[in-house]
Amino acid sequence: MNIARQVVIEDQTQTIPATMQAAVYRGISDVRLETVPVPAIGPGEILVRVHTCGVCGTDLKKIATGSHSAPRIFGHETSGVVAAVGEKVKKFTPADRVVVFHHIPCRECYYCRHKTFAQCATYKKVGCTAGFEPSGGGFAEYVRVMDWIVDQGTVKIPDNVSFEQACFVEPVNTCMKGIEALRLEPGETVLTIGQGPIGIILSILARRAGATVITSDLYPERLKIAKSLGFEHTIDASQRDTVEAVRSLTAGRGADVVILAVGNNALVRPAMNATRAGGRVLLFAQTQRGEVVIDPAAICVDEKALVGSYSASVDLQQDSVRFVMNREMDLERLVSHRFSLEESPRALELAAHPQPSSMKILIQPGMNWKSQEGTQK
Ligand SMILES: [Zn+2]
Ligand SMILES: [Zn+2]
Repeated sequence: MNIARQVVIEDQTQTIPATMQAAVYRGISDVRLETVPVPAIGPGEILVRVHTCGVCGTDLKKIATGSHSAPRIFGHETSGVVAAVGEKVKKFTPADRVVVFHHIPCRECYYCRHKTFAQCATYKKVGCTAGFEPSGGGFAEYVRVMDWIVDQGTVKIPDNVSFEQACFVEPVNTCMKGIEALRLEPGETVLTIGQGPIGIILSILARRAGATVITSDLYPERLKIAKSLGFEHTIDASQRDTVEAVRSLTAGRGADVVILAVGNNALVRPAMNATRAGGRVLLFAQTQRGEVVIDPAAICVDEKALVGSYSASVDLQQDSVRFVMNREMDLERLVSHRFSLEESPRALELAAHPQPSSMKILIQPGMNWKSQEGTQK
């Protein structure tokens, strides 16, 4: 450890304040910037000073529906710098740049033995908090990372990787899990409906698995980004009927696989119609319970399969860390808006009402950090 680094460490441990700013969820569609205590840490825990936290569709759903009790602090795509470590922590020291993955399963229960980790009670017990109920907590200046997440869910960020790139570890993992559920075979044709940041990551991963990818979206701005990433078959759903367009690209059959990366349940039926007989449809964004009309014969007679995937898999953690940290994809390109912590209510508002130009939205408590606290932005 060189001297310059030592100075930074001392500086940081001395400057942990008693209180901090945080975006506190107070009830349905009510998130306020408040002053709250900086969380205390236990012997096996670490305190992370948050640089960047991605805004995720599931945060927005929880805020809009009131599915979780208030008060709490959301935000789970968190990267930052270790500010303090408990006395039993050996893996990390202050000033380490880290990304925190808040969901780790027990690996022992019925669901874990059947590899449905997202249904495990330990997995659901979020191990990261900025105070109140554990809920990620990345929309705050500091988060407390609990011991099992320190051991298994916290990853150092290499020097050449930015906090922004690193905060994609969790969303990439969820996309990898969705792709894995589809058991893609090389040469298959995949239609991804929706080219927001998640739709684009899913498309990239489908192509990585050997598929030919067709993308569709209502916003030409998003299709332009998809094109710039090498997706030549794009369907402007504001101009053309997606089902017809896909059939014309697949000798009239439909895509082998359709990925629905838009939350709108009215798109389930068209997604099934755009799939060939014997194909699969992945519902990736249907996080709200409700009802949809489907044709049961499409499943029985046409042998189409409806597949779902939610949240992340611990088995894919290494692969998603490698993908992000090796910069297999420049994920920063998907970022359209960066907000300071003070502006977080506005950031959440924009994310809940996406505009043609909005892609990944980040809240960055570390927006104005001095460079030595993390050389990357
Ligand atoms: Zn997420
Ligand atoms: Zn379990």
